[in-house]
Amino acid sequence: MAERERRHVRVAVIGSGFGGLGAAVRLRRQGITDFVILERADAVGGTWRDNTYPGCACDVPSHLYSFSFAPNPEWPRNFSGQPHIRAYLERVADTFGLRDHLRFRAEVLSMRWDTEALHWEVETAAGPLTADVVVSATGPLSDPKVPAVPGLDTFPGKVSHSARWDHDDDLRGQRVAMIGTGASAIQIVPAIQPDVERLTLFQRTAPWVLPRADRKITAAEKWLHSTFPATRAARRGLLWGIREMQVSAFTKRPDELGLIEFLARNHMKKAIKDPVLRAALTPDYRIGCKRILLSNTYYPALAQPNVDLVAAGLKEVRGSTLVGADGSEVEADTIVFGTGFHVTDLPIAQRVTGAHGTTLAEEWKDGMSALRGASAAGFPNFLTIIGPNTGLGNSSMILMIEAQLNYLADFMRQLDVLGPKIALDARPSAVQEWNRRIQQRMARTVWNTGGCDSWYLDKNGRNTTAWPGTTAEFKKVTRQVDLAEYAVLRPPAGKPADRPAGPRTEVAA
Ligand code: NAP
Repeated sequence: MAERERRHVRVAVIGSGFGGLGAAVRLRRQGITDFVILERADAVGGTWRDNTYPGCACDVPSHLYSFSFAPNPEWPRNFSGQPHIRAYLERVADTFGLRDHLRFRAEVLSMRWDTEALHWEVETAAGPLTADVVVSATGPLSDPKVPAVPGLDTFPGKVSHSARWDHDDDLRGQRVAMIGTGASAIQIVPAIQPDVERLTLFQRTAPWVLPRADRKITAAEKWLHSTFPATRAARRGLLWGIREMQVSAFTKRPDELGLIEFLARNHMKKAIKDPVLRAALTPDYRIGCKRILLSNTYYPALAQPNVDLVAAGLKEVRGSTLVGADGSEVEADTIVFGTGFHVTDLPIAQRVTGAHGTTLAEEWKDGMSALRGASAAGFPNFLTIIGPNTGLGNSSMILMIEAQLNYLADFMRQLDVLGPKIALDARPSAVQEWNRRIQQRMARTVWNTGGCDSWYLDKNGRNTTAWPGTTAEFKKVTRQVDLAEYAVLRPPAGKPADRPAGPRTEVAA
């Protein structure tokens, strides 16, 4: 195939979830219109497009789990469901004029930093392009993880993952095995339990579950919020403030979380009367170590006569028989994996080759790290949204994304001030120092000391995902780019500081 014409853009944004759309809005606000959003699917929404499983909803209140610059007075519930969040993101794309920038079915296959031209060469499923700056907003919850269970290929029935729900598969009357007890599984269980013949839940680790203070947002509240925006802002502020006050218990004083364990135990007691089942459902680690789950329907569903709990992981599959790590055997027609995502081994990292010829995955083989959650050393003009150590245990990720958008905006400003064809590469010493401070603080957090294993920790046991502070602190430390933390790269002597000619905003289709 003849090499297709490479188009050039100032910025290529990868992904069109909250992070990618937010980056696009921010670029436009900065007056930058020469950018594309590369999306592998055929619609916006990221994880809120892909997760359509029954019962899917966000466990952060909607008035906080939305952009500050795109308020929605019409949220239907405290904790709105996936269809409403997805529709919100579609509206953001329309309202902020992002449609012309979107390139669907344009999965990034590989990208390489050109050390002479000082730009990224990006191969996408929709053709090649070059970009001065790449913003990777692929998110940590985008690539489903299915454990390599021996014998899984011998299973004659349907196998699916929570993030790839098959709505054509009618579960009514089926014997379903649900694998996992994370945030996804505990929403699926009560949603499908009334319909299935038998539901067997494989619980490797019991989660802590608290009540969910969900309710409809009344017409009067909606009217108030759209007529007097200050009331909506006050509601958001209150939701934010309460969560900020909880942070120190997670990050400095995990013992204070004991009271919340008491509430969680009581919550379970109300629905689970069988002491043996209750014992099996009681976690053996500090609450907060894994993500705290919110549900009013999970325990009542587990108490139903058509539900069995296997308090062990799925070890093996032999035809239609599922074997637990405790030796129990269960027959099933369908297996649903609620086993999470590739978070600390991001697949996109294998596709990004930096200035030294190594991939981001190779650079991160001993653990992810990025300056202020955004810049990895040796990957110039490459910023991650929801990068390493930007995750939260108790509040809205949209707050962290918006802080990272401030950083992106300042990064672009600095590049403009420095002149054309300039690149910024995080200094290894700055990345190391940033990471050293994070890891030092991490040692006291409930995620590291609470006695559990979780997706916050990588294969070496290092916490490379969570932010050990308040969202206000993260906002502060990402307000501006500190140029001392970056090497300024200029074109080699004798090379004109130009940009490739040709159309600048379109990916070859
Ligand atoms: P997850 O939290 O990573 O949970 C994966 C589950 O699979 C864990 O319970 C894990 O057990 C289990 N597992 C893995 N291999 C297993 C095996 N061989 N046998 C039995 N169990 C096995 O994944 P998730 O539930 O999809 O949630 C991921 C994140 O998405 C959440 O933490 C949250 O941030 C977000 N999310 C949010 C919502 C919401 O807002 N309500 C909903 C869904 C997802 P172990 O605990 O023993 O590892």
